Order: sequence, then structure tokens, then C-alpha cells
Amino acid sequence: MSNYLGLIRRYWDFIPIEDENSICTLLEGNTPLISSTYLGPWLGLRLYLKYEGLNPTGSFKDRGMTVAVSKAIEEGARAIMCASTGNTSASAAAYAAKGGLNCYILVPEGKIARGKLAQAMVHGAKVVAIKGNFDDALRIVREITTKFSIKLVNSLNPFRLEGQKTASFEICDQLGRAPEYLCIPVGNAGNITAYWMGFSEYHERHKIDSRPRLLGIQAEGAAPIVRGEIVENPETIATAIRIGNPARWKEALKAVEESEGHMEMVSDKEIIQAYQLLAQKEGLFVEPASAASVAGLIKMVRTGWVEKGALVVCVLTGHGLKDPDVALDLSGLITECGPTVEQVIEKLGL
Ligand SMILES: *Cc1c(COP(=O)(O)O)cnc(C)c1O
Repeated sequence: MSNYLGLIRRYWDFIPIEDENSICTLLEGNTPLISSTYLGPWLGLRLYLKYEGLNPTGSFKDRGMTVAVSKAIEEGARAIMCASTGNTSASAAAYAAKGGLNCYILVPEGKIARGKLAQAMVHGAKVVAIKGNFDDALRIVREITTKFSIKLVNSLNPFRLEGQKTASFEICDQLGRAPEYLCIPVGNAGNITAYWMGFSEYHERHKIDSRPRLLGIQAEGAAPIVRGEIVENPETIATAIRIGNPARWKEALKAVEESEGHMEMVSDKEIIQAYQLLAQKEGLFVEPASAASVAGLIKMVRTGWVEKGALVVCVLTGHGLKDPDVALDLSGLITECGPTVEQVIEKLGL
């Protein structure tokens, strides 16, 4: 039997939950830090991949959701609500189901990866698709949650970050130190902010010598922080980071500056290349947004920003099964064949 307790109990001293009875957990966290056997040697780095796709609903959002939902329960809430490009809604729906809460979800119409939508629906959330983008959805959710007694569980909710910061604790525990660089995709910029909180708290509490330099990666068509201006119509294959006006913009910039890190952007073509490398050379199936961090790292090694030999952790934020359409579109057609040994041998080119 697993003796893993979920991240609130594991990191109890660091998480602002008071009543153990209010804990709502699906035993999230405790994800593997995988030593890269292809990309690391190829790039000349000591590279580890933090595979957050192995959380209960397939993304890191579960780390924040266990704390946000437990807090909502502690405060007597009956319902939660979020705007989402997909993974937040999948996670909110699952934790609401576990905690016995109603869940309301606003998604931008037609822009949600199918796996994520399936999750929200199957867990029984009330899902509304609005004719608008993520930023419109978030604006509406903010207004509704101030008018009704419904808890907002987007990453504006500070308890989300309190949960998400535990990924930094795990990385330090797994490596026995902090990495020199942490490379992470940036959408609403909650996660990069949370990682910095986590490294900073662990640094202080456990006397770890250093904190990593943060490398935040955006998609070219949705890179408001890199460009320094709001993007009105963000576009990228990486739907989880398709955000034009990040909620945690200022905090993310501050974290990157404090860490002496860097914000970079990558094209969809570079994202797809990294996606295929991860799948075919590392055996890791991630969603496009997660591949953005690897695409960004490749770029920053090429430009000399990251030096050879560095100890680097790349965060792989979500599982590839979330977005099967992208995987199939990139993979070409299945070879058809008659039902004989000879035909199969011929088709396989054996
Ligand atoms: C939410 C999400 C991101 C972006 O995280 P932010 O906190 O919005 O910056 C990246 N990848 C995946 C898979 C996500 O679900």
C-alpha cells in the first residue's frame, strides 16, 4: 500500500490549511524527476525532466487545486468556479467531485483540447463555452464570484500558488539541492510565480545554498511578457499557454528578475519539434505547452544563455493524452495492410 499522503499532509508546515478534516486530496504531487538520457547529453547539460503529467488529472494544476478546494471546504463553500483553457477545469471538476462541491466552468469556445473537456464533463461540472477568449472568460468569472457565494479557483486564488510551490520542494528533495536553472512554460504566469515562492521558502527554511535562475518560456503568438504588451488575439498550438494578458504578469517578472533569469519565446514549429523529441527520444508524452519549456531550453543553449554542464530542470506541465488531436495530426496515417504474414512483412519493410 502507498504511504504517500498527498501534498498538504506531506508539506503541512508550509501550507496554510488549518483543519485536517477539510483536506480534499487525490494524492497529487510526488511526481518523478526523470534523468534525461537523450536531450541532456545532446545539449551538454545535466538535465532532469519533472513530469507533472503524472498528477491525478494529468497536469500540475492538481497541486494548486487540492489546496484551493480544501480551503474552500474549510471556509464552508458549496461551490467553486473557474475560467480555463482546459487543465484548471479538469482539475477543478475532479476535486469538486471528490469534495462534494458544485463546479462551474467557463471555457473559450472551440479552443479546448478534447481530453480536458472530457474530464470536466465526466466529473459532472457545469460547463459553459463562451464566444470569446480566455481573458474574456476570466473577467466574467471574477465578476460572478464577487456577486455570488462561489469560490474562484483560478490562479488568482492565492491558495493555488501555495499548493503549486510544492513542486519546488520536491525538486530540492529529489536532487538534494536546487538546480542551477529551472525552465518552465508561462501562460497566466501563476506557476512560475509559485515555483519561485517554493524555492525561496525552502532556501530559507532548509538552508539550501542557492536558488535556480528561472527561464520562463512563452509561445511567440502569445508572448505578452516577452514583448512587453498585451496580446489581443493570442494564437498557438500550445493551448494551455494561449494567454494574452497574464494574471500574474508582475509577480512573474519580479521572480525572473530576482533569480537573474530570463523570459524567452518559441515558435509553434520549435514547440512541435521539442514535443516529438520528448515522445520519440525520451519516451515522454506531454502536451504542446509542456514541450515549450524544452523548446525554450534548446534555444537558450544555442544562444549561449545557458552554459554547458549546467544542472537544469525542465518542467513538463501536462500529459500528452490531454490533446490526442495534436498527436494524431502530427503522426501521419496508419499503414493499412491485408491479413497475411507476407503482406505485413512487406509493409513493415522487414
Ligand atoms: C496551466 C498550464 C500552463 C501554464 O501555467 P501558468 O500558471 O498559467 O503560467 C502550462 N502548461 C500546462 C499543461 C498547463 O495546464
